[in-house]
Amino acid sequence: MKCFPLSEGTYTVDQSKNFIPFNSEIDSVKDRPGSLLVEICPFLIISDEGLIIIDPGLGLKNAEGEFQIIKNLSRLGYNSTDINFVLLSHLHKDHIGGVAYEENGEMKPMFPNAEYVYQEEEMNEALSVREETNRGDHLLSKKISRSFDENKLLFLKNRKEKIELKGNTKLLPRFVSSRTEIYCEVSGGHTKNHQVFWIDLGNEKYFYGGDVLPQGSQLIRKFAAKYDYDGKESGALRIQYGKKCAEENYACLFFHSSINPISKVKYEDGIFELIPY
Ligand SMILES: [Zn+2]
Repeated sequence: MKCFPLSEGTYTVDQSKNFIPFNSEIDSVKDRPGSLLVEICPFLIISDEGLIIIDPGLGLKNAEGEFQIIKNLSRLGYNSTDINFVLLSHLHKDHIGGVAYEENGEMKPMFPNAEYVYQEEEMNEALSVREETNRGDHLLSKKISRSFDENKLLFLKNRKEKIELKGNTKLLPRFVSSRTEIYCEVSGGHTKNHQVFWIDLGNEKYFYGGDVLPQGSQLIRKFAAKYDYDGKESGALRIQYGKKCAEENYACLFFHSSINPISKVKYEDGIFELIPY
């Protein structure tokens, strides 16, 4: 296999959009009213054009004081400087927290040799939320939305080694001899310019649906999320993507699911089935 989950663990999140670590052995969701339980699972892809991280997560340190994502990489025999690309589905803070970290008041890249890839319009939108939210006229706010981390957004914006995509883009291959194909497709749904990734490594195919398809269970049970920019659109998209994965043999990568974060999809008689991969 050329794809590895880099789980950051389980958290609860409430209206404040703060992610609090959750240990199922000692913590109870009942003690955190109004909270949603979420898992955070970035991915590593090993391609013939280099190492790729998809959505580096919260970027939090573990109890030993190490960044969990770096610890996960080291278990696989890699370190932060080995990463060539960081793909970002959208710019919510639970997906881009791990792009950088603060040290002595300065932002440092978590993956110093990587090009960071995101949709330009997603950035414009995220920064413009500062004046008014995109939820019509009932939630006007002068501050940046709590779903975003301003320091991380500005770090990305100011980084030289970045690729700002303008809509659907074939990111790879770059080399004629490469067997890697990565297609970045703007999906919308979760955020206006959210993107998904179709990754073909030559003999393994992966689909990353970001927060449009964050958990396999969302293929099994119909579900419209309140936190989506367009919940109905997201619901329709995930069915469409699920069917394509089944037909074309893509394994799905689920960012918000640490249990079976990589699954193959079967679709028969209108019913989806997930096969852990
Ligand atoms: Zn999100």
